Amino acid sequence: MSKKILAIRGMHDILPQRTPLWQLLETAVADVCHQYGFSEIRMPIVESTDLFCRSIGEVTDIVEKEMYTFEDRNGDSLSLRPEGTASCVRAGLEHGLFHNQVQRLWYQGPMFRHERPQKGRYRQFHQVGVECFGMAGPEIEAEIILMSSRLWKKLGLADELSLEINTLGSSEERASYRETLVAFFEKSRDLLDEDSQRRLTSNPLRILDSKNPKMQTLIEQAPRLLDSLGEASKQHFETLTAYLGDAGINYKINPRLVRGLDYYSHTVFEWTTTLLGAQGTVCAGGRYDSLIEQLGGRATPAVGFALGMERLILLMKEQKWSAPQPLAYIVHQGELAKKRALSMAESLREALPDSRIVLHCGEGSMKSQFKKADKTGARLAIILAEQEIEQAQVGIKFLREDKEQVQLGQNELNDFLNKILKVG
Ligand code: ATP
Ligand code: MG
Repeated sequence: MSKKILAIRGMHDILPQRTPLWQLLETAVADVCHQYGFSEIRMPIVESTDLFCRSIGEVTDIVEKEMYTFEDRNGDSLSLRPEGTASCVRAGLEHGLFHNQVQRLWYQGPMFRHERPQKGRYRQFHQVGVECFGMAGPEIEAEIILMSSRLWKKLGLADELSLEINTLGSSEERASYRETLVAFFEKSRDLLDEDSQRRLTSNPLRILDSKNPKMQTLIEQAPRLLDSLGEASKQHFETLTAYLGDAGINYKINPRLVRGLDYYSHTVFEWTTTLLGAQGTVCAGGRYDSLIEQLGGRATPAVGFALGMERLILLMKEQKWSAPQPLAYIVHQGELAKKRALSMAESLREALPDSRIVLHCGEGSMKSQFKKADKTGARLAIILAEQEIEQAQVGIKFLREDKEQVQLGQNELNDFLNKILKVG
């Protein structure tokens, strides 16, 4: 036998028993985005490598070591998108979406990062992204935080997730803080791990984000950006926290929250859980007012977040939820009955468009057909055997309830099912 071909490491099939959970999540996301006045945008999965280098930043984990980059047949360097914000901004610029207008956009789809696969961390994973353009105030930040919070409630996850926020100030404030920070870490250079020593010159703020337990005491002692902010930035942040307080949202200010991408300024936030170990961040975002200019557009305020769908699914798995089950499974015996069953299934789908009707396809004794019916979780079996065909009847067998089998005229079937649906 030839060798089986398997899926690529870190890239997973979502099997039929799990897709109902995904659909539940996708529907909840679409509903909440709709409620808040957001419109969906869909971007290609492949972009010029340049786009990600220029936006995410050359000295970030993503660009340094995680991107799927390849040359296409024309010799152009392309990359599978590792995240959606850059593509969304590229699309907005390309189609003039930022010209004198405000945009509230959302998208969903696969992202690709060459990371070490583990629970909650994959090489192909899925994000929902929300991006807002043209709004500079903290109220839109409050809006998207409230929106994510509403989604958690809808999914029954409100108790599992907590919010951390921080501010990175303006780019000027960050530049001067950067010097303070470098001076601080320089004094203890030998306590820094290899990655952090490298970042000392390239991206010192990222040292604050290090998960290395040996560096935590040092990081704890580092000066805080929050303490060296100017009035305007302070005001912005305080207004946001006041809005969150008014809305009854619990949050913790985490001065070490810096986020892994270069384009953030002012507000950053993360929703985390303790239930997924090291992969505890479910949703992360913030303001990125400089990105559009950086990519060749006019300065445009922007704010957004991305949430990791696999991590949410892992949390949702623990909740009670039920897969959709058929209302009826139609069993039949004989050629004539098979033909009649096929058209009966169609007329039921016409009459009861919200119900799931499954027709038995293939051969099999009545007994084995009932077994299959039961396995689908169907509530009823509709029976069309020789006797039923002769008398223009159908049999109804209740598969989940302790009730006698019923014989009906075929023309009474719709009314009967409608009644059952109403009673519940
Ligand atoms: P982490 O700290 O977990 O590596 P990140 O800062 O790299 O996350 P972002 O780029 O902000 O993540 O992406 C937003 C969200 O997407 C994350 O909070 C997480 O839920 C999810 N995510 C990121 N990388 C992966 C991955 N490799 N597999 C599954 N989900 C991911
Ligand atoms: Mg990461």
